[in-house]
Amino acid sequence: MHILITNDDGINSKGIRALRKELRGLGELSTIAPDREKSATGHSLTLIHPIRVEQIGRRIYAIDGTPSDCVNLGVMGILDRKVDLVVSGINNSPNLGDDVTYSGTVSAAMEGTLLGIPSFAVSVTTQDRAEPNFTFAAKFARQVAIMIKEKGLPDHTLLNINVPNVEESKIKGVAITKQGKRTYREELINRIDPRGRVYYWIGSKGIIGKEEDGSDFKAISENKISITPLHLDLTNYVFLKQLKEWDIKL
Ligand SMILES: [Mg+2]
Repeated sequence: MHILITNDDGINSKGIRALRKELRGLGELSTIAPDREKSATGHSLTLIHPIRVEQIGRRIYAIDGTPSDCVNLGVMGILDRKVDLVVSGINNSPNLGDDVTYSGTVSAAMEGTLLGIPSFAVSVTTQDRAEPNFTFAAKFARQVAIMIKEKGLPDHTLLNINVPNVEESKIKGVAITKQGKRTYREELINRIDPRGRVYYWIGSKGIIGKEEDGSDFKAISENKISITPLHLDLTNYVFLKQLKEWDIKL
């Protein structure tokens, strides 16, 4: 098995190192990750300037691009063999509910899926400045990688895994979940810079999810590992039928 490891926290993050350490032995590992943090860059690809690639170790590359660029480059050209699995993470904050659309970590797994390769994303639900338990999450990722190798994943489907950031002994099991909804209030901070101009920070007063039964947020609130199967077809099929009835014409 040839595993491509990437992330959005950057090539030097502890999460990607933990992943590399635990996935060792499952096959050949290649790592391609952004040369700096690219969190919340979503599914963007770099199209308007060239992407530089620096090899910094055996099968380890840092690029000045996005997480999706990393997967694209790996699959389309810079690696010498076919990629069998894409693992993205371990992200140092949760990727739950509506936030998956912003996530570079989840988007890298989406990119792998679009390219026809089984892929999953893994995040630790670190909040504030807590120390993330990457080792446990990486061991769990190893287990999932083995299962995907055995069972495969359906087309256009990836797994989004969130591991509660608590001691291993406090984890209450694994929940297969649906994508939840966040309820936190967005906050836009505006301040004045030293030259008198206004600048903005997009922020939030903390992520609070609706703890709906069966959702990823609910699982994390119960100290369970959440695994959500995400599908890349975003079509709302129920509304598609209703929309036809609108009879929109030229
Ligand atoms: Mg990140």
